[in-house]
Amino acid sequence: MRGVLILSGGVDSTTLLYKMHRDGYEVDALTFNYAQKHKKEIACARAIAERLGIVHHVVDLSALSSLLGDSALLGGKEVPSCHYTEEAAKKTVVPNRNMIMLSVAAGYAEAHEIAEVFYAAHKNDSTIYPDCRPEFVQALRPAIRLATAWHPVELQAPFVDMSKAEIVKMGLSLDVPYELTWSCYRGEELPCCSCPTCIEREEAFALNGRRDPLLGSND
Ligand SMILES: [Zn+2]
Repeated sequence: MRGVLILSGGVDSTTLLYKMHRDGYEVDALTFNYAQKHKKEIACARAIAERLGIVHHVVDLSALSSLLGDSALLGGKEVPSCHYTEEAAKKTVVPNRNMIMLSVAAGYAEAHEIAEVFYAAHKNDSTIYPDCRPEFVQALRPAIRLATAWHPVELQAPFVDMSKAEIVKMGLSLDVPYELTWSCYRGEELPCCSCPTCIEREEAFALNGRRDPLLGSND
């Protein structure tokens, strides 16, 4: 089995990579440079891919950023310091980001005759980002199938009904090296611990009775 994975370098897609690895998949990982402020995640994705010795491509879509508005992730609006709220989500949304990345991934999969494309959309994200919702997955699945007629590509989003805490639980059982992952939108030396994704990440570890290894050991 071979699958294409959108690997951001964060908690969710890294856990999915380790799950695919366990399930016997040969993985081709794609990481997207869309001129995000937190470029550190790209270096993290590279290190994670190297650790598993998988095929990894960094796809440069940075030229698109000027067309995609003033998202906080692109350095436009200020990164909010609060839990995910509708307002915080609006500031951090990159318009149609998953559709753009999945579209490229489906093309890559067809070109390499790989039958499945995976991404790590999950339940927490689905309340705030439209392109992480089950309805989106259900709608895009047949569209990708129709667009890739000779080597049909199937879209897989196995975490779509799981919370981030459940993903971390799975990852801990798979020995995911979370110290290599990056989430913080500010992309500084250390996690800021106050942006929405930092807060959500720490909560997911706390719900599993663990401390994020990026913030120190569990001892
Ligand atoms: Zn942060």
